[in-house]
Amino acid sequence: MTPLPPTLLTLLRTLESAGHSAYAVGGCVRDLLRRTVPQDYDVATSATPEETMSLFPGAVATGLRHGTVTVKIGPDAYEVTTFRTEGGYADHRHPDAVRFTGRIEDDLARRDFTVNAMALSADGRLIDPFGGQEDLQKGVLRCVGDADARFSEDALRIMRCLRFASRLGFAVAEDTEKAMLRRREDLRFIAPERLRQEMTGLLLGDHACGVLLRYPAIPAVFLPEILPCVGFPQRIPRHRYDVWGHIAHAVAAAPKTEVLRWTMLLHDLGKPLCCTEDDDGRTHFYGHMEVSAAIARQRLTALRFDKASLERIVTLVSVHDKAFPLTDSGLCRLLRDMGPEAAQQLIAVKRADAAAKVPDPRRVQEMDEAEELLQAVLASGRPWQVGHLAVNGADLTALGLRGPAVGEALRTLLDRVMDGALPNEKTALLAAAQRMKCAAFS
Ligand code: ATP
Ligand code: MG
Repeated sequence: MTPLPPTLLTLLRTLESAGHSAYAVGGCVRDLLRRTVPQDYDVATSATPEETMSLFPGAVATGLRHGTVTVKIGPDAYEVTTFRTEGGYADHRHPDAVRFTGRIEDDLARRDFTVNAMALSADGRLIDPFGGQEDLQKGVLRCVGDADARFSEDALRIMRCLRFASRLGFAVAEDTEKAMLRRREDLRFIAPERLRQEMTGLLLGDHACGVLLRYPAIPAVFLPEILPCVGFPQRIPRHRYDVWGHIAHAVAAAPKTEVLRWTMLLHDLGKPLCCTEDDDGRTHFYGHMEVSAAIARQRLTALRFDKASLERIVTLVSVHDKAFPLTDSGLCRLLRDMGPEAAQQLIAVKRADAAAKVPDPRRVQEMDEAEELLQAVLASGRPWQVGHLAVNGADLTALGLRGPAVGEALRTLLDRVMDGALPNEKTALLAAAQRMKCAAFS
């Protein structure tokens, strides 16, 4: 196993020398045993927060109610938490009472999954009372103790379970899976921000597709439009999955960013509401982009998404199935309407969408072409926003234009320049503006 970082060893040994026990604990032990680099290291100790603070003069109490102290050693900071047990979870999320304990085993018993309930001492001793190492080897997520009770205490663990399944590619143990499904409605007790965070974690995992396919009913508690998509047929030659199957594969095919993965999750949720069937029995989904965009707006708002991400996702959903412009002027208009970052994201969305249908090399080629053209237009300095024009508002005001007529004239000039009907040169643009003014007053 990869050794603990030197600063962490110093921290653990300082606590031990003062007569306390201390361990690296939780996710970092799991990751070290899997030979991956932990995101951070948490420490659990028998020392009270006051005792820890007296040993490390610079330490800051960051969560005293839960017994957490942050200790900085050299460039590294560690959260050091006193061994604790928890009791009573009236709100299905937070313990009503937290009690300090002297035993690491008691502390491990309150943790969510066996693979997260292991501790490692400075001299390399592994404390593993619940078979975490074996579950890690088998690739299994299993609740510590009675699964039903654990999910009932804290419903967020249901989403944590899916997030770990998606990240690690682990299966969920049978009793844990049954309890998770049985208790899923308790997710209504969880703060929307936390649901969003865990769902994002799920979507960004390497195994998101499998998790979405196996457990649609769980995110459906806060995204109810998922359920009608499950098994909903798409009888069109270019599709090979039902709507939910297509969505799950499209999520996994998208680059791992929050905006893109949420866009794929939401992009077709409106389909069941828009389905019509023609005489040949083929399904059509006219208007599904607008309906999906409205669903996206409603659900992302409820999940307290920040405005910028929300607007971007809604925009991408609302145009995902439109033909991508493959001419300079069409592309300039797209840039004017969405900006370069969103245009780039739209290409990624269309690639992911295509990847989740019957393979079609023409679609791939088209998107390669779109990508090239987009880069070429951006590099060429072709104007695609009013600010790029060789004239500005002051120039037009000097010609005698006033108020809204100025903005309108600039937009018209931009249109003509984008079409290639006018060069982006000051004299030509001023002359055209003068003609527009005369026409307006004639
Ligand atoms: P990550 O690598 O994503 O940080 P992690 O396992 O470290 O994963 P954290 O959310 O950082 O997860 O939590 C640290 C540890 O605290 C977990 O490994 C687990 O032992 C415990 N834990 C966290 N949240 C809960 C919870 N809701 N219920 C029970 N134990 C929890
Ligand atoms: Mg962690």
